[in-house]
Amino acid sequence: MKLVFSLALVMAIFTAGVFAQTAAELAEIWEKEHITNILPSNTRHKDLIKYLDDLRTLGIKVSDVGRSYQNREIYQLEFGSGPLKVFMWSQMHGDEPTATPALIDMFTVLQKNRDKEWVKQIEKTITLRAVPMLNPDGADLFIRRNIQGIDINRDALDLKTPEARILKSLRDTWEPEIGFNLHNQNALTAAGRTNKQAAISFLVVYGDAEKTETEGHIRNKRLVAAMTQALQNFIPGHIGRYGDEWTPTAFGDSFSAWGTPTILIETGGLHREDEMYLVKLNFIAFMTALKALADGSEKNFSPANYDLIPRNAGGQLMNVIIRNATIIDPLKPNGPTVADLGINFERRRDQLSTPAFIRRIGELTSIHGLEEFDASGFYVVGRFDPIKTGSRAELLFFRRDRTIDWAATETPQPEPDAIFSTGRWFKGEGVVPKK
Ligand SMILES: [Zn+2]
Repeated sequence: MKLVFSLALVMAIFTAGVFAQTAAELAEIWEKEHITNILPSNTRHKDLIKYLDDLRTLGIKVSDVGRSYQNREIYQLEFGSGPLKVFMWSQMHGDEPTATPALIDMFTVLQKNRDKEWVKQIEKTITLRAVPMLNPDGADLFIRRNIQGIDINRDALDLKTPEARILKSLRDTWEPEIGFNLHNQNALTAAGRTNKQAAISFLVVYGDAEKTETEGHIRNKRLVAAMTQALQNFIPGHIGRYGDEWTPTAFGDSFSAWGTPTILIETGGLHREDEMYLVKLNFIAFMTALKALADGSEKNFSPANYDLIPRNAGGQLMNVIIRNATIIDPLKPNGPTVADLGINFERRRDQLSTPAFIRRIGELTSIHGLEEFDASGFYVVGRFDPIKTGSRAELLFFRRDRTIDWAATETPQPEPDAIFSTGRWFKGEGVVPKK
């Protein structure tokens, strides 16, 4: 038994080695050959159309498969002619854009490398179809829902949106064997009970409330194990497992129920890395899955490794924590309080200033800030309004060795030593030390 197992393993490693592209090689290919050059959050439907023109020029089949509610074109790309049907779609939530450029780059790299053995293998094993930017109206406004105000990902059964009807009909007329449902999650999601952001989370989506496990689900677990192993080279500890509560109106759950076992990929955030880094990680994940399917190496991965991925956890991370601030309310000068201020940013397009809000005030020792500052030497005053939970994080910092009469009404007002505004140091960066 042991010998057989070892032989099988040696054979498997050998087979995988023939076509295997390491994660590092995939990253290098992306660096050299990716064509997307606009940050995902700034990519509009018109930008997508330009990318698709480039793909058509390269020889990729691009079909117009319908119109959004506001009459924007929705497209499907196709590569390969193999028997295994793989279907991917991105950005059904308009403000969840990372996978859209990753899909474009994936088709580009596949098409440009058709002379390579590993791409030939994909081409003859798989037919790949993908819909980038299913919700172009939402993408142009950078909103979650479609322009009717309906969450397309809760419209799988009602089909009140044209976008949902297109998605369902693409599945029903082709009946793919694997689905990839591509989203973005809250950037403050943690990978397990840790301080690490879940930069990417996966879910093997079941097709019923009982979580009945089919062959397709077990294969998908192996695929996630393969993708996770590849990504661990870049983001160790930053991979999570998305919650698996049954949502029959959601498309992932419905695809799985209709016979297309689906993998949900949710891109989160990674502090100090830009959006294009996350595009690269998506690209590596997709290509790893395709290659593992094409060369059969997915069979070498254990579905049990999927179950070991730490679960997504919320509430442990905040964007900024200002520790030990002596909070002054000029209207109540007798009662300064010392507390930690927890600040979170709202999801926005990259170039807009970040709305930052005070979400927690108190002793936040169990919470980790992606950035932390030690304000123990400072008075902190609200720039426009008194500091309270829910107000904008517009903060003035005054050194505590200064003598300031907070009740005084005369001008000029005392000049602050540092100002925190729209999520950054507007004045006096470095004055309040980092923790
Ligand atoms: Zn989403």
